[in-house]
Amino acid sequence: MKDFETLLSSHGLSAILNHIHAIVILAEKDGALIAWNRAFEPFKANFPADGKLGDLFTDSVDTQSRSQFKKMERWVTHIFPGEDKQTGLLCDCMLLPLENEQVLFVAELINSAPKLLDKVDRLSKQVEVFKNESETAKKLARRKEVEMSGVMAQASEISHVDALTLLPNRRKVLRQLEDEVQRAQRYHTPLTVSILDVDHFKKINDTHGHLAGDEALKQIGQILTDCIRHPDMAGRYGGEEFLILLPSSDATAAADQAARLCKQIRETQIQTAEQILQITVSVGIAEYQPTDTWETILHRADGALYDAKVNGRDRWVIKNPQT
Ligand code: GH3
Ligand code: MG
Ligand code: MG
Repeated sequence: MKDFETLLSSHGLSAILNHIHAIVILAEKDGALIAWNRAFEPFKANFPADGKLGDLFTDSVDTQSRSQFKKMERWVTHIFPGEDKQTGLLCDCMLLPLENEQVLFVAELINSAPKLLDKVDRLSKQVEVFKNESETAKKLARRKEVEMSGVMAQASEISHVDALTLLPNRRKVLRQLEDEVQRAQRYHTPLTVSILDVDHFKKINDTHGHLAGDEALKQIGQILTDCIRHPDMAGRYGGEEFLILLPSSDATAAADQAARLCKQIRETQIQTAEQILQITVSVGIAEYQPTDTWETILHRADGALYDAKVNGRDRWVIKNPQT
């Protein structure tokens, strides 16, 4: 600290005083101005020619109590105050009596505080408005989201098509199965159900990638579309499983169809983006029995599919109720 004071007293003190924003005035003990720094210059023009330090404060308390300028003091007041004593420059003031009976007066302007506070106030109001707006925006977005999911649900409800294979989707084919079971019950007509499942499809995905797997499913969908004729109907039942409904057909006819499909798919070279795949399918077949519901006939076809898999895949199996 001592070094700092030495440095200040011996070098560039006036340059430093002229650089700072605080007003610095050197005055006689009676307040007569001797010298001042650059920060006081703009105010000097409005200052009486023979003005004294006390003239800075028209406030009577300041003028009287500090007219002696004898002891070191620090206080906050308005200098050059207006009529209402509140305008003018709000300053953090310091009075420093010097050894030679002169005094040093330092006033740090803090009159920008009200303006700053004003600004802070205005900004915080804007932030508040913005917050409210963004809350409203969030609420609107949330409402739209809910609306959207409602629309999506309706869309999927009315949608009957599987997006990948363009075959009837699971919902559609199961509804159709229910209808066919009712018709078979009512009119005592035959009905057979086949489930066709791609063999080792997981391995195809794992080896060639999911996109190649998708391509294979698409091409199987195309084969089913080409090979299955009215009144038969094929739909995508699950991931790599397809359901074929054969109203008016018995299990023998379904077995013929399954054999043709197994052969056709086995012999098809499935072209994907990077390679040609060869795949096989297994088919489980169940024929409608008078005691069947759509679930029980499906369950039996699934059992038949299981047997086809266990027996070596790339084949069809018929499951009768008693077996
Ligand atoms: P299995 O011969 O016993 O039927 O064996 P698998 O590998 O075909 O049967 P698994 O049930 O183990 O695997 C079926 C695979 O099908 C797993 C699943 O990731 C895949 N899969 C399901 N849906 C899709 C799809 O839409 N696209 C593709 N690429 N893969 C699918
Ligand atoms: Mg499967
Ligand atoms: Mg499979």
